[in-house]
Amino acid sequence: MDECVILKEHQHGLRRDRIAHEALRVLTRLDEAGYKAYLCGGGVRDLLLGRTPKDFDIATDARPEEVKKIFRNCRIIGRRFKLAHVFFRDVIIETATFRALLDTPPPEAEDVPLPSRRRTDVPDPTFATRGGVIVRDNVYGTPEEDARRRDFTINGLFYNIADGSIIDYVGGLKDLENRVLRVIGDPETRFHEDPVRMVRAVRIAAQLDFQIEAGARETIVRLSGELKNSSRERLHEEMLKILNCGSAGKVFDRAWQKGLFQRIYPAFAEWLQSPAGHPALHWVKKALRQFDVWKQAGLKPMPALQHALLFGPFIEGLAGTFAAEGLPEFEAVLQAVNTVLRDKANLTQIPKAVVFDVERILGIQVQMRKSSGQSKYASRLRQRNGFEEALIYLKFAGGLDPARKELLARWMAPAQPAKHSPAPSSPPPHS
Ligand code: ATP
Ligand code: MG
Repeated sequence: MDECVILKEHQHGLRRDRIAHEALRVLTRLDEAGYKAYLCGGGVRDLLLGRTPKDFDIATDARPEEVKKIFRNCRIIGRRFKLAHVFFRDVIIETATFRALLDTPPPEAEDVPLPSRRRTDVPDPTFATRGGVIVRDNVYGTPEEDARRRDFTINGLFYNIADGSIIDYVGGLKDLENRVLRVIGDPETRFHEDPVRMVRAVRIAAQLDFQIEAGARETIVRLSGELKNSSRERLHEEMLKILNCGSAGKVFDRAWQKGLFQRIYPAFAEWLQSPAGHPALHWVKKALRQFDVWKQAGLKPMPALQHALLFGPFIEGLAGTFAAEGLPEFEAVLQAVNTVLRDKANLTQIPKAVVFDVERILGIQVQMRKSSGQSKYASRLRQRNGFEEALIYLKFAGGLDPARKELLARWMAPAQPAKHSPAPSSPPPHS
């Protein structure tokens, strides 16, 4: 067990003024109300590295109900964990009560002087594992327990608002310095408990340009198959984080090397390795680089555009097969979108709305091919939901595929004012 290391305010580089003022406000109010108030997780990690955090999470010994009493703008959420969300105009500050380690029994009744406390003589419904995988855990604990139940040492650091110190129960400061991503506890146990941690490890290490500690690296390769035990919704969320993390290309390379990507999208990965799909690898990598460029420019593309770009060649290739079998071109594309994105073998659950928007983006490609770009139909198409994304898709594809250059030029030309010709009774057929 690591000893607790405390760095006083002048001994580390985390400056209070780098903390978003909303988070600072929550920390200060909790502190003033007599609670422990720690900035935790990626916020501390990133500030110590001189990076701008994506979000600021707070850990406290105040129970969610107590947090709610302090902040009018607070809502208690969560099924798996109860969390207090403190709402500000632009951000939500997630405030979590210190949680216990999984193998710690629920606190004794007398330690919990709150009406919300659970009886300890009945099985705790909020605390269970299924075959070692966490189902629910909502048991409050000490700061040290809270640090130890986190995933990686660099994510287990606390910044104490009361005195500006950094509290390190898990050896995170040393690992930050050595640029190592290390699992807290035994990698096999922790990855088995929550296989999504393997994907997080790869993403965070790639984002920070850290090395994953050798034992954890080897365990990821060995346990990658366990990803199938994870929630498909969570994996989709994690995939979105990857696509928008600013290092999507690097995460892809590393996730591929470890066999994680292949587990998540088996059919797509197999196709990319086949002679038919191999040339598309260049497209996929370029799409991921594009996401990184967007991120750097502060742009947030729709998930559907990202999915369309990522899976585009695979979907379009499949649509070609369906069309060759006799399906009209437009229907072939829709069918291919659904075959690829709703494939039950994928480990991510892509929401219906995203699939629908991908249908639009790729369906509009077909419709654009049918039009001069200047007709009345074209001007209606330009107004259609999803057209903007469809044009971005076409621009991207035009940069890689000479066959689409002419189409792109046609649609990039400024639209001519509509002539007074009788409107066609129906739009051109989709096929
Ligand atoms: P970023 O926000 O930059 O993606 P992060 O590390 O802050 O990275 P969050 O998802 O915001 O990631 O989680 C906040 C913190 O919660 C983490 O730093 C970690 O301490 C803890 N955490 C998140 N997911 C897990 C998990 N699956 N298992 C254990 N701890 C976790
Ligand atoms: Mg975070």
